[in-house]
Amino acid sequence: MLIFKNFDFEIFKKSSYFAAFIQITIMSILVSNVSKVYGTQYALNNVSFEVQKGEIVGFLGPNGAGKSTMMKIITCFIPPTKGDVSVCGFDIWNDSIEVRKRIGYLSESNPLYHDMYVREFLEFIAGIHQIKNIQKRIEEVIGMTRLEIEQHKKIGTLSRGYRQRVGLAQALIHDPEVLILDEPTTGLDPNQLVEFRELIRECGKKKTVLLSTHIMQEVEAMCNRVIIINKGNIVADNSMQELKEKVTSFKKTKQEPSMEDVFHFLTKG
Ligand code: ADP
Ligand code: MG
Repeated sequence: MLIFKNFDFEIFKKSSYFAAFIQITIMSILVSNVSKVYGTQYALNNVSFEVQKGEIVGFLGPNGAGKSTMMKIITCFIPPTKGDVSVCGFDIWNDSIEVRKRIGYLSESNPLYHDMYVREFLEFIAGIHQIKNIQKRIEEVIGMTRLEIEQHKKIGTLSRGYRQRVGLAQALIHDPEVLILDEPTTGLDPNQLVEFRELIRECGKKKTVLLSTHIMQEVEAMCNRVIIINKGNIVADNSMQELKEKVTSFKKTKQEPSMEDVFHFLTKG
């Protein structure tokens, strides 16, 4: 009781403990001044952004902008040249195992073993994550990603839409808090696209999602916020509405721009 009586919240608010507390309870992803240099080329140039718990954030940018590089750094696949990243309060330099436990990652190339059967592959991934009741969890993720009718096939025989579902299933299997999805809907036919988008939206209800895509309707349909990157620099970090208002006021037009207009305006040239 005595401790609480003398507790000065104003001093606590200014302390590093408070910063850490906020980071762990509110932030899912914290990127601070990250640069990545390949040879002499800056793929990322002093990039900083935050993603709060439960947000679905669209990560947009032209090809070569640095989206995949940023995602590989957050997921601990490659280190940054400079800067810090933390995920759910754990930082990539000192706690990379804890970071990986909390992230489900569907990479751009979705590397799968084509000679493996769907269930065999998921068992393999579940084993890596040391999941206790593997069969129960596989049933759950197969249900979540609607893989039921293809679950006994070899991965190499599946359509691109179903391969992406297997990729999503492996990303979900350890029930991570954060999903990093790198262009998950690229190359899907219109039906697969709608279905896959629905799956992401469903997963996003309970998780934080960072999603890269070139499909602007997808961003409008799913994301709370967009971060736009161009040539390794963040050029926007706003809600869709804020971005549209910015472009409208800059162009001094009354007509509301589409997200394509916003993207073009911020990344052209
Ligand atoms: P995006 O995912 O936005 O298309 P990337 O992150 O893949 O962009 O690439 C950003 C830039 O970094 C590109 O110019 C790309 O050629 C370069 N790059 C990516 N990976 C490597 C690498 N391993 N070696 C050299 N350059 C690379
Ligand atoms: Mg990419």
